[in-house]
Amino acid sequence: MKRFEKSFTQQEPIPAAGIEAAINVMQSGRLHRYNTLPDEQSETDLLECEFAEYQGVPYALACSSGGYALHIAMRAGGVKPGDQVLCNAFTLAPVPGAIHNSGAVPVLVDVAQDYCIDLADLERKAASSGARYLLLSHMRGHLVDMDAIMTICARYNLFLIEDCAHTMGATWNGQKSGTFGDIACFSMQTYKHINSGEGGFLTTRHDDVMARAIMHSGSYMLFDRHFKGPPPATFDTIRYETPNYSGRMDNLRAAILRPQLADLDAQCARWNRRYRILERTLAEADNIYIPRRPAKEGFVASSIQFSLPNFNPAQIQHVIDECAARGVVLKWFGGAEPTDYTSRYDSWRYIKTLPKLTQTEQILATLLDMRIPLTFSKEDCALIAEIIVEVVGQQ
Ligand SMILES: *Cc1c(COP(=O)(O)O)cnc(C)c1O
Repeated sequence: MKRFEKSFTQQEPIPAAGIEAAINVMQSGRLHRYNTLPDEQSETDLLECEFAEYQGVPYALACSSGGYALHIAMRAGGVKPGDQVLCNAFTLAPVPGAIHNSGAVPVLVDVAQDYCIDLADLERKAASSGARYLLLSHMRGHLVDMDAIMTICARYNLFLIEDCAHTMGATWNGQKSGTFGDIACFSMQTYKHINSGEGGFLTTRHDDVMARAIMHSGSYMLFDRHFKGPPPATFDTIRYETPNYSGRMDNLRAAILRPQLADLDAQCARWNRRYRILERTLAEADNIYIPRRPAKEGFVASSIQFSLPNFNPAQIQHVIDECAARGVVLKWFGGAEPTDYTSRYDSWRYIKTLPKLTQTEQILATLLDMRIPLTFSKEDCALIAEIIVEVVGQQ
């Protein structure tokens, strides 16, 4: 019986150029982003400039984590305690957590058969809740029909914050994820598309939003040092009105991120080649359902999702256990108990107005997820697919 031996949590090493740049930063002793010589641009400044250019947006702020970026995005976007914020029920815990951190209340929206946000439920809840904000999580590297999202946002006057933790490098109809909404947030945590252990980006095209984000992030009164920030006059009153929630990026992490950002598009292509190998085999098997992705969606598949729609919970658990015994680690988004990075929406019990989302529960009940680290070869992916198909076939 074939077994897979590699680890599902093993990343590639930091590129040599990043290690060398990190050593230079350490030798300089100047790790704090604002600790610069006259006219010097710190690694953090350079990273922000390069990311803004990559995205094609005017402003980028690097900060301590993706969840932190989401939190200050809420605040900088004007969310007030008690406000309602629409968001996917199918997402990861930092998303409702960021809404809660700003004192607002998540309004959870159903997931659809393609694992993206359900557009009909979104429209219904935008109308019924009166929410002014949508925090849209591009879950697991996939983008919902962004043309439809923009129509709904215009119709209900929604301020759109894109959670691009899984879509750095992804596109819809050739347009980068994170350039549709008012604000976008990204993560550089180890399991995302560029890796500094922890880290996040916030991007926006709004002067006032960016000024508030820079103040929140802990710039003290050094906001005029930002190369990718709004004109200094934007800060005239904002600097007095905006609390410092200290959460900066540092030059050491920025140094290891810059070479990775330069490689991002090539890495995304490598993820997608691995995905296509897995997808081809899984999609042909009986009892496995993988949604066909629309041609407009330029996804980044650092993970893969599929459903076993004909299986009951005991059978799903059996598939997970059998795959695990053969070295293949699957996660179950519908599992009753939150484990590892997955949690079903009803485990976020701090949400006082937790709805009952029958459609979401039905879809998540048979939805499995698997990471695709780039340390897996194409042959590895073929073997993993073979094991999954065999295990599912034995049910
Ligand atoms: C990882 C992640 C984030 C940000 O998380 P951090 O660990 O704080 O960087 C946000 N949203 C989703 C969906 C994520 O998976």
